[in-house]
This record gives sequence, C-alpha cells and structure tokens, in this order.
Amino acid sequence: MKNRMILPAVLAAAFLMVLYFAFPLKGKTTGKNGAQTAADSLTQKEDSTMETMNLTEEEWKQRLTPEEYRVLRERGTERPFTGLYWDNHENGTYKCAACGAQLFSSETKFDSGCGWPSFYDVSSSDAIELKKDYSFGMIRFEVICKKCGSHLGHVFNDGPQPTNLRYCINSASLHFKKEENPKTKNK
Ligand SMILES: [Zn+2]
Repeated sequence: MKNRMILPAVLAAAFLMVLYFAFPLKGKTTGKNGAQTAADSLTQKEDSTMETMNLTEEEWKQRLTPEEYRVLRERGTERPFTGLYWDNHENGTYKCAACGAQLFSSETKFDSGCGWPSFYDVSSSDAIELKKDYSFGMIRFEVICKKCGSHLGHVFNDGPQPTNLRYCINSASLHFKKEENPKTKNK
C-alpha cells in the first residue's frame, strides 16, 4: 500500500522541481543576488561566447580540414605560391577560416610578391591580436584571430603606404567571400 502513495508524491515533487528550475531560466537574465542558479551561469557563458570562441583541439580538428588545422591551430605556414588566395584579385572580404570573423578586405590587399595573401591593413583592429614570435631565430609579430585565437600569419613593417605594414596571411587561415555585383543583386 505504501508504494502506491510514494509514487504520486515523488512525481509531484519532481514536477515542482522542474517548475522551480524552468522559470528562473526564462525570467532572470542577471543574477543580482548571491543565489545565482546554474541556469544563469549557463546563459552568461553563452553571452561570452558571442565574442570569443573556445573549442577544444578535438573539436577544432573535426571542424577544420587537416591543412587548416595545421596552419590555424598548430601555427603552421603554407608553402608560398600554393594557397588559394595569394593571387586572388576579386573584390570581397576575407574571413577567419576557423570562426568566420571578418578580418581583411580586398581593398587593402596588395601584390607583395611573397606568395602569401598580403594586406596593408585589417578590417578592424579589434579583429586581430599581435603576439611577439621568436621562432626560427627571428623576432616577428604573429597575427592571431581575436575571436578564436587561431594563427593567421605574421605582420611586417615593410608594407606600402599609408600603414607601411604587410600582413602576410596564410590562405588556409582565410575564407574569401566574393562581393556581389550590385547590378545583379535582386533586391
Ligand atoms: Zn577566428
């Protein structure tokens, strides 16, 4: 007889707990008091991933091609004159191949003769991060995507006016998005 009473009681308690946890999840967005629920910290985590993207190396491996992974995540360098974009002269934007952040524009691309896509400026200084790189007995500045922390290439100070900078970027780190011709746009 006892068991017959226990089951509905357990179900009712479970139902109340579901209600208790479900409603703060929808209603509250900021935890002003100390009683921050797990749901709140979850939504906050989601907010922060809007700006940065932190995946495990295993997750990156699944998302990227082997060559992209080698360059972006293992700070590799593609062989010059072999990438997709060193000789690309089409108008458009260059996005991070790992996270899609907009990094460069065809407007600042120039022929440097080095065999890698070269730009004299970034789309936005917020998009990248520079880090001193002492590898191969040189002092260089590594260019890193700010959103996902992936390796893009290096920047040198032998570029053209007006910045005198040369962002030497691997094609494997970029995805080119061709600008649509305004005349053929159906809007
Ligand atoms: Zn990125």
